[in-house]
Amino acid sequence: MDDRMFRTAMGKFATGVTVITTEVDGEVHGMTANAFMSVSLDPKLVLISVGDKARMHDLIKRADKFAVNILSEEQKEMSMIFAGQIKEERNVAFEDFEGTPIIKDSLVNLACNVYDTHEAGDHTLFVGEVLNLNVQDGEPLAFFEGKYKQIS
Ligand code: FAD
Ligand code: NAD
Repeated sequence: MDDRMFRTAMGKFATGVTVITTEVDGEVHGMTANAFMSVSLDPKLVLISVGDKARMHDLIKRADKFAVNILSEEQKEMSMIFAGQIKEERNVAFEDFEGTPIIKDSLVNLACNVYDTHEAGDHTLFVGEVLNLNVQDGEPLAFFEGKYKQIS
Protein backbone atom coordinates (compact mmCIF):
# COMPACT_ATOMS: atom_id res chain seq x y z
CA MET A 1 0.00 0.00 0.00
CA ASP A 2 1.47 3.38 -0.90
CA ASP A 3 1.38 6.53 1.22
CA ARG A 4 -1.01 8.37 -1.12
CA MET A 5 -3.62 5.60 -0.88
CA PHE A 6 -3.40 5.62 2.93
CA ARG A 7 -3.77 9.42 3.02
CA THR A 8 -6.70 9.29 0.58
CA ALA A 9 -8.41 6.72 2.82
CA MET A 10 -7.73 8.67 6.04
CA GLY A 11 -8.94 11.85 4.34
CA LYS A 12 -12.42 10.27 4.10
CA PHE A 13 -12.68 10.62 7.87
CA ALA A 14 -14.07 14.16 8.30
CA THR A 15 -12.53 16.02 11.23
CA GLY A 16 -12.42 19.42 12.85
CA VAL A 17 -9.19 21.39 12.79
CA THR A 18 -7.09 22.44 15.79
CA VAL A 19 -3.97 24.49 16.30
CA ILE A 20 -1.68 23.18 19.03
CA THR A 21 0.18 25.96 20.85
CA THR A 22 3.02 25.93 23.34
CA GLU A 23 5.76 28.21 24.63
CA VAL A 24 9.46 27.56 25.25
CA ASP A 25 11.95 30.23 26.40
CA GLY A 26 9.33 32.95 25.88
CA GLU A 27 8.75 31.95 22.24
CA VAL A 28 5.29 30.83 21.15
CA HIS A 29 4.96 28.10 18.53
CA GLY A 30 1.81 26.81 16.82
CA MET A 31 1.06 23.78 14.63
CA THR A 32 -2.13 22.80 12.82
CA ALA A 33 -3.38 19.31 13.76
CA ASN A 34 -6.47 17.26 13.01
CA ALA A 35 -5.19 14.13 14.83
CA PHE A 36 -7.02 15.04 18.05
CA MET A 37 -9.47 13.09 20.18
CA SER A 38 -11.17 13.06 23.56
CA VAL A 39 -9.88 10.12 25.65
CA SER A 40 -11.16 10.04 29.25
CA LEU A 41 -13.64 11.83 31.51
CA ASP A 42 -12.03 10.87 34.84
CA PRO A 43 -9.41 12.22 34.64
CA LYS A 44 -10.14 14.58 31.72
CA LEU A 45 -7.72 13.47 29.01
CA VAL A 46 -7.27 14.32 25.32
CA LEU A 47 -4.81 13.04 22.74
CA ILE A 48 -2.84 14.60 19.88
CA SER A 49 -0.52 12.90 17.38
CA VAL A 50 2.55 14.92 16.36
CA GLY A 51 5.02 13.98 13.63
CA ASP A 52 8.53 13.33 14.95
CA LYS A 53 9.98 15.78 12.41
CA ALA A 54 7.63 18.61 13.41
CA ARG A 55 9.25 21.40 15.42
CA MET A 56 6.27 21.09 17.76
CA HIS A 57 7.39 17.58 18.77
CA ASP A 58 10.50 18.68 20.70
CA LEU A 59 8.88 21.88 21.93
CA ILE A 60 6.03 20.01 23.69
CA LYS A 61 8.58 17.66 25.26
CA ARG A 62 10.47 20.67 26.60
CA ALA A 63 7.43 22.67 27.73
CA ASP A 64 5.62 19.61 29.16
CA LYS A 65 2.37 21.42 28.38
CA PHE A 66 0.34 22.57 25.41
CA ALA A 67 -2.99 24.05 24.43
CA VAL A 68 -5.48 22.73 21.88
CA ASN A 69 -7.41 25.46 20.03
CA ILE A 70 -10.44 24.07 18.16
CA LEU A 71 -10.94 26.39 15.18
CA SER A 72 -14.17 28.03 14.04
CA GLU A 73 -15.13 28.34 10.38
CA GLU A 74 -13.86 31.94 10.50
CA GLN A 75 -10.34 30.75 11.39
CA LYS A 76 -9.27 28.96 8.19
CA GLU A 77 -6.42 31.46 7.87
CA MET A 78 -5.11 30.36 11.31
CA SER A 79 -5.04 26.76 10.14
CA MET A 80 -3.16 27.77 6.98
CA ILE A 81 -0.65 29.88 8.92
CA PHE A 82 0.20 27.09 11.36
CA ALA A 83 0.38 24.41 8.67
CA GLY A 84 2.90 26.46 6.69
CA GLN A 85 0.33 26.92 3.89
CA ILE A 86 0.81 30.71 4.05
CA LYS A 87 4.46 31.47 3.49
CA GLU A 88 4.66 35.09 4.67
CA GLU A 89 5.19 35.56 8.41
CA ARG A 90 2.00 36.70 10.13
CA ASN A 91 1.69 38.42 13.45
CA VAL A 92 -0.71 36.32 15.52
CA ALA A 93 -1.96 37.67 18.85
CA PHE A 94 -1.89 35.02 21.57
CA GLU A 95 -3.45 35.20 25.03
CA ASP A 96 -2.21 33.48 28.17
CA PHE A 97 -4.42 30.76 29.65
CA GLU A 98 -3.13 28.76 32.64
CA GLY A 99 0.45 29.63 31.62
CA THR A 100 0.00 28.44 28.02
CA PRO A 101 -0.56 30.60 24.92
CA ILE A 102 -3.96 30.27 23.23
CA ILE A 103 -5.59 31.64 20.07
CA LYS A 104 -8.54 33.84 20.91
CA ASP A 105 -11.95 33.48 19.21
CA SER A 106 -11.42 29.70 18.89
CA LEU A 107 -14.49 27.52 19.52
CA VAL A 108 -12.60 25.85 22.38
CA ASN A 109 -9.26 26.33 24.14
CA LEU A 110 -7.96 23.44 26.26
CA ALA A 111 -4.95 24.07 28.51
CA CYS A 112 -3.18 20.73 29.10
CA ASN A 113 -0.26 19.27 31.01
CA VAL A 114 1.47 16.33 29.33
CA TYR A 115 0.06 13.28 31.14
CA ASP A 116 1.67 10.54 29.03
CA THR A 117 3.51 10.05 25.73
CA HIS A 118 3.58 7.07 23.42
CA GLU A 119 5.82 6.67 20.39
CA ALA A 120 3.84 5.36 17.42
CA GLY A 121 5.77 4.91 14.18
CA ASP A 122 6.83 8.30 12.83
CA HIS A 123 4.54 10.19 15.25
CA THR A 124 4.33 10.61 19.03
CA LEU A 125 0.98 10.48 20.81
CA PHE A 126 0.79 13.11 23.54
CA VAL A 127 -1.95 12.52 26.11
CA GLY A 128 -2.89 15.80 27.76
CA GLU A 129 -4.61 16.29 31.10
CA VAL A 130 -7.02 19.19 30.71
CA LEU A 131 -6.40 21.80 33.41
CA ASN A 132 -8.98 24.32 32.22
CA LEU A 133 -11.05 25.17 29.16
CA ASN A 134 -12.98 27.93 27.35
CA VAL A 135 -15.98 27.26 25.10
CA GLN A 136 -17.60 29.68 22.62
CA ASP A 137 -20.59 29.38 20.32
CA GLY A 138 -19.96 29.11 16.59
CA GLU A 139 -19.55 26.74 13.67
CA PRO A 140 -16.43 24.56 13.26
CA LEU A 141 -13.81 24.56 10.53
CA ALA A 142 -13.82 21.05 9.01
CA PHE A 143 -11.27 19.03 6.98
CA PHE A 144 -12.34 16.35 4.49
CA GLU A 145 -10.52 14.81 1.50
CA GLY A 146 -7.55 17.10 2.10
CA LYS A 147 -9.73 20.26 1.81
CA TYR A 148 -11.19 22.74 4.26
CA LYS A 149 -14.99 22.61 4.52
CA GLN A 150 -17.78 24.42 6.33
CA ILE A 151 -20.56 22.47 8.00
CA SER A 152 -23.14 25.27 7.86
P1 FAD B 1 6.74 24.86 11.28
O1 FAD B 1 6.44 24.11 10.05
O2 FAD B 1 8.07 25.50 11.48
O3 FAD B 1 5.63 25.93 11.64
C1 FAD B 1 4.34 25.84 11.15
C2 FAD B 1 3.91 27.20 10.63
O4 FAD B 1 3.43 27.96 11.73
C3 FAD B 1 5.05 28.01 9.98
O5 FAD B 1 4.57 28.56 8.77
C4 FAD B 1 5.34 29.08 11.03
O6 FAD B 1 5.75 30.29 10.45
C5 FAD B 1 4.00 29.24 11.72
N1 FAD B 1 4.16 29.68 13.11
C6 FAD B 1 4.57 28.93 14.16
N2 FAD B 1 4.59 29.66 15.28
C7 FAD B 1 4.18 30.91 14.95
C8 FAD B 1 3.96 32.13 15.68
N3 FAD B 1 4.23 32.25 16.98
N4 FAD B 1 3.46 33.20 15.01
C9 FAD B 1 3.18 33.12 13.67
N5 FAD B 1 3.37 32.01 12.92
C10 FAD B 1 3.87 30.93 13.55
N6 FAD B 1 0.89 17.30 11.53
C11 FAD B 1 0.96 16.49 12.62
O7 FAD B 1 2.06 16.13 13.07
N7 FAD B 1 -0.19 16.05 13.25
C12 FAD B 1 -1.42 16.39 12.81
O8 FAD B 1 -2.42 15.99 13.41
C13 FAD B 1 -1.51 17.24 11.67
N8 FAD B 1 -2.73 17.60 11.20
C14 FAD B 1 -2.81 18.47 10.16
C15 FAD B 1 -4.08 18.88 9.73
C16 FAD B 1 -4.22 19.74 8.67
C17 FAD B 1 -5.60 20.17 8.23
C18 FAD B 1 -3.06 20.24 8.02
C19 FAD B 1 -3.20 21.21 6.88
C20 FAD B 1 -1.79 19.85 8.44
C21 FAD B 1 -1.64 18.96 9.52
N9 FAD B 1 -0.40 18.54 9.99
C22 FAD B 1 -0.31 17.71 11.06
C23 FAD B 1 0.84 19.03 9.36
C24 FAD B 1 1.48 20.18 10.19
O9 FAD B 1 0.53 21.20 10.48
C25 FAD B 1 2.64 20.81 9.38
O10 FAD B 1 3.55 19.79 8.97
C26 FAD B 1 3.36 21.87 10.19
O11 FAD B 1 4.11 22.70 9.30
C27 FAD B 1 4.32 21.32 11.22
O12 FAD B 1 4.71 22.38 12.05
P2 FAD B 1 6.09 22.45 12.80
O13 FAD B 1 5.86 22.30 14.27
O14 FAD B 1 7.12 21.57 12.16
O15 FAD B 1 6.53 23.95 12.60
P1 NAD C 1 -3.73 14.72 3.04
O1 NAD C 1 -4.46 14.17 1.88
O2 NAD C 1 -2.27 14.51 3.16
O3 NAD C 1 -4.42 14.26 4.40
C1 NAD C 1 -5.53 13.41 4.45
C2 NAD C 1 -5.48 12.63 5.75
O4 NAD C 1 -4.37 11.74 5.73
C3 NAD C 1 -5.27 13.50 6.99
O5 NAD C 1 -6.48 14.00 7.49
C4 NAD C 1 -4.62 12.50 7.94
O6 NAD C 1 -5.62 11.72 8.56
C5 NAD C 1 -3.81 11.61 7.02
N1 NAD C 1 -2.39 12.00 6.96
C6 NAD C 1 -1.81 12.86 6.06
N2 NAD C 1 -0.50 12.95 6.29
C7 NAD C 1 -0.23 12.13 7.34
C8 NAD C 1 0.95 11.81 8.04
N3 NAD C 1 2.14 12.31 7.70
N4 NAD C 1 0.85 10.94 9.07
C9 NAD C 1 -0.35 10.40 9.43
N5 NAD C 1 -1.49 10.67 8.80
C10 NAD C 1 -1.44 11.53 7.77
O7 NAD C 1 -4.08 16.27 3.12
P2 NAD C 1 -3.19 17.49 2.70
O8 NAD C 1 -4.10 18.66 2.55
O9 NAD C 1 -2.31 17.11 1.55
O10 NAD C 1 -2.28 17.74 4.01
C11 NAD C 1 -1.40 18.82 4.04
C12 NAD C 1 -0.11 18.43 4.75
O11 NAD C 1 -0.39 18.20 6.13
C13 NAD C 1 0.53 17.15 4.21
O12 NAD C 1 1.93 17.34 4.21
C14 NAD C 1 0.12 16.11 5.23
O13 NAD C 1 1.08 15.05 5.34
C15 NAD C 1 0.06 16.92 6.51
N6 NAD C 1 -0.90 16.29 7.46
C16 NAD C 1 -0.35 15.55 8.46
C17 NAD C 1 -1.18 14.91 9.35
C18 NAD C 1 -0.57 14.10 10.46
O14 NAD C 1 0.63 14.08 10.60
N7 NAD C 1 -1.35 13.39 11.28
C19 NAD C 1 -2.56 15.07 9.27
C20 NAD C 1 -3.09 15.86 8.23
C21 NAD C 1 -2.25 16.46 7.33
